[in-house]
Amino acid sequence: TQSYKLGLTAKILIGMGAGILFGLLLRNLFPGSEFIQNYITDGFLHVIGTIFISSLKMLVVPLVFISLVCGTCSLSDPAKLGRLGGKTIAFYLFTTAIALSLAILTAVLIHPGNASMVTENMQYSAGDAPSLAEVLIGIVPTNPMKAMSEGNMLQIIIFAVIFGFAISHVGSKGKRVAALFEDLNEVIMRVVTLIMLLAPYGVFALMGKLALTLGLETFGSVVKYFFVVLTVLFVHAFLVYPLLLKLFSGLSPLTFIRKMRDVQLFAFSTASSNATLPVTIETAEHRLGVDNKIAAFTLPLGATINMDGTAIMQGVATVFIAQVFGIELTITDYIAVVVTATLASIGTAGVPGVGLIMLAMVLNQVGLPVEGIALIIGVDRLLDMVRTAVNVTGDTVATVIIAKSEGEFNEATFMDPKAGKATL
Ligand code: ASP
Repeated sequence: TQSYKLGLTAKILIGMGAGILFGLLLRNLFPGSEFIQNYITDGFLHVIGTIFISSLKMLVVPLVFISLVCGTCSLSDPAKLGRLGGKTIAFYLFTTAIALSLAILTAVLIHPGNASMVTENMQYSAGDAPSLAEVLIGIVPTNPMKAMSEGNMLQIIIFAVIFGFAISHVGSKGKRVAALFEDLNEVIMRVVTLIMLLAPYGVFALMGKLALTLGLETFGSVVKYFFVVLTVLFVHAFLVYPLLLKLFSGLSPLTFIRKMRDVQLFAFSTASSNATLPVTIETAEHRLGVDNKIAAFTLPLGATINMDGTAIMQGVATVFIAQVFGIELTITDYIAVVVTATLASIGTAGVPGVGLIMLAMVLNQVGLPVEGIALIIGVDRLLDMVRTAVNVTGDTVATVIIAKSEGEFNEATFMDPKAGKATL
């Protein structure tokens, strides 16, 4: 039988290309057509695209809960659990700090912004960002069912870890429950591979809609900003991560990059780390050889608190907006940007566009005008897609490195190009 994963990547790429072509074609053949708008853009493309994203999101809560309970069942040692948590958070903060420093440095050197870009009608009102106290209090759920129905990732993680930990401490009864969760885990993983088969059509619809709605005219004066963000995102994904992987785990970056393609395509087309989570977990466990114990914990946590791509956008955007408004930032300001942006990424979920809301927080912190966001909002959709791909890559790199250091890593699976390419 033909290996389905390779086929899938190719199909997703074809869906993507066909979608963009379809969208651009309609846009240019029937400019401003209401029929196209009502029946294609907001009609069939919207329906298919949304169903695709919903079907991924549908899996996130049950998958994270089942898979994390299953993982912690076998972690009966609280010291190991604590070490894993500490290591993961430390590594996530570390990579985010690198991302921010790289972004700020590049933006200062290239200087993408100048004062002529300020316009009269710039408007942007910041949404509400949670305070640090709210974030901390919000980590513990008052009602786990509510946490699940709201998809509150940190709360689900806390509950699942405690639940799984308890299972490992109730002897033979616990063993039965653990076995049940292991079976459930197999089933939900199979659901993930089934839904993944929809991707080519879903991606076609998402890209088609994007091409139909997104005009290139939005670029205007912010082309330079756009390319600085893009460049730093690529450097981070294809230089920094491979370096970290090699340095900390000695594994082949090329193999890693090759196996991450599907995950990145999903992240790119959905612009949501959360929606991509099922694919990220599946890939980490079955293709990269990370044990479920580690992946089930670090990946959902990463989708929520670790957003290197988003941090890069924020670093560049802050410097850019300062340049546009002619405001000099001091070293202390830059440090404040790094600290605020890192903290801001904790407690804000991996959903499309959330990065801009966090940016407002960072701008406030260093006293820059929040209206500056109006300048970059036009190109944010595209950058959101690319930075989400970087976000999930960062979560996975950390996961592989941590799994290797904990001895919960199967190198044979990692090396095997065919691993995880199950046929249905
Ligand atoms: N869309 C990004 C994510 O889901 C977050 C953002 O930067 O807006 O990871």
